[in-house]
Amino acid sequence: MLKTVPAFDRIGEENAFAVLARANALAAQGRDVINLGIGQPDFRTPDFIVEAAIKALRDGHHGYTPAVGITPLREAVAVDLGKRFKVSVSPDEVMILPGGKPTMFMSILIFGEPGADILYPDPGFPIYRSMIEYTGARPIPVPIREENNFAFSAEETLELITPQTRLLILNSPANPTGGVTGKREVDKLVAGLERFPEVAIMSDEIYDHMVYDGETHVCLLAYPSIRDRLILLNGWSKTYAMTGWRLGYAIWPGKLYDYARKLAVNLHSCVNASAQYAGLAALKGPQDEVAKMVAEFDRRRKVVVEGLNRLPGVSCATPKGAFYAFPNIKRTGWKAKALANALLEDAGVAIIGGPDFGVLGEGYVRLSYANSTENILRALNRMGEFLTSRKAA
Ligand code: PLP
Repeated sequence: MLKTVPAFDRIGEENAFAVLARANALAAQGRDVINLGIGQPDFRTPDFIVEAAIKALRDGHHGYTPAVGITPLREAVAVDLGKRFKVSVSPDEVMILPGGKPTMFMSILIFGEPGADILYPDPGFPIYRSMIEYTGARPIPVPIREENNFAFSAEETLELITPQTRLLILNSPANPTGGVTGKREVDKLVAGLERFPEVAIMSDEIYDHMVYDGETHVCLLAYPSIRDRLILLNGWSKTYAMTGWRLGYAIWPGKLYDYARKLAVNLHSCVNASAQYAGLAALKGPQDEVAKMVAEFDRRRKVVVEGLNRLPGVSCATPKGAFYAFPNIKRTGWKAKALANALLEDAGVAIIGGPDFGVLGEGYVRLSYANSTENILRALNRMGEFLTSRKAA
């Protein structure tokens, strides 16, 4: 018997990848599967960004870079945040990482251990809980409620803080719900957090460009009173349709920067150099492709919400951000995961069951509308036929 570390039996995963594999396997057998499962833009990375990566390789940028990323890219991130949110960020606080995920991984490793509590959104991105469990810390779910339009509640969040709380994870715009938390609620939360100076905050703002209906994204960096304990997670994956490039960044306060830098040196050395040059072009180049993609997501959002609300037993709140809808399916009689499985196997529509995002996800499913309007309409049709003809299992 191999003697492995028990923590590895506690680590979880992201079921969206398993659903993607199953959808691809069914497609390989000749089935027509519409994939509204995985959360990645269906657009191509804009050409000028791809060209910048090719040029970087041709120019000889194929070696190691500094572990924290190339200086011009860190500078560009600082300028971009300054411009968009009127905040002052030093390039020395910026770290380039292989995607958004490493920031949650590192933050949770830095704060998690047996005896510590870490607060995370439920339903929320599944890797938060997985990593908390891995470290042996206690995962404390912060309920994200449909009644609250899937925004987090400052009051409920603050009530969960105890002397054991080390880290609070926030995510707006949110996966899987599309919820956006407005400025008034964030102001309230930050004011409350001033009473708990020993609690670090990791704000996952990877969907910050994708807000609709006149909402504006509230960046946590704009709050000086928590700045010395705020970790910001962001990256290029969603905004620039670059999920496969593996490019993200973090803002780390104080000594956490050095901890994260050492983790990077131990783990991945640095991010692929050509991807970093692509990221630089993305930030410095024209932003109209981003605006076009967001406008297209907005159009599809309306189609998907309207279509879902016509399905028997389904009701869907209008998501204000990201590219997900999180309809309530309780009146269909189906359990969420059973419905997601049956829809994939029998109707060729891939979606994700709400419980894959936490216990409070029961009664909901997640649809990613990062797919063409035509496919979204076909999927809604199939779902309608399925729900009309099949009894809940
Ligand atoms: N944070 C949230 C809320 C996400 O939904 C995702 C991806 O789905 C990530 C982080 C990870 O992004 P990346 O692919 O850049 O690692």
